[in-house]
Amino acid sequence: MKLSRLRFNFGFLLEADYGTIRHIELDYPSIKLSEDVTLTPLVGVITATRTTEGIYIQGQLESSMSLECVRCLDEAIVPVQITLDELFYYPPHIAPPGEHRVGDDGMIDLAPLVRELSLLSLPIKVLCRPDCQGLCQECGANLNQGECGCPADDIDPRFAALESLLKNDRPGD
Ligand SMILES: [Zn+2]
Ligand SMILES: [Zn+2]
Repeated sequence: MKLSRLRFNFGFLLEADYGTIRHIELDYPSIKLSEDVTLTPLVGVITATRTTEGIYIQGQLESSMSLECVRCLDEAIVPVQITLDELFYYPPHIAPPGEHRVGDDGMIDLAPLVRELSLLSLPIKVLCRPDCQGLCQECGANLNQGECGCPADDIDPRFAALESLLKNDRPGD
């Protein structure tokens, strides 16, 4: 898996006494976790605790993602907050279905978890800014960059045809 740089060796912690804590500082200018998730930057601190069941990972990470605004299709920089709160099981404790586990080599790859949490944190509608004006339905111009010159028309295009029919019906119009 070439993409991930969020793999950490917890061999030392697995050997340590229960309750031993290690802090890991993350400071990536940019990190590509998957084809669909690149975090720019990714900063924060991870706290790893050796528990009787494995390694408990906590952390608060700050990031942002570059996405496409649903209205104007321009770049939208969306802040991403990631809260890690996950137990990684380690033998002899078997991870229940759907739970995470420490690799046999003592490694934990946080990329899948961080990717999932990043996607979950995104708004349903990604906007470049709350008042994005979107694209002109006539000429496709980005209305955030100013008026395009098309006639201002608030009428829904689906009703435009109906309106012209009504106009034609009116005698002497
Ligand atoms: Zn926009
Ligand atoms: Zn226009």
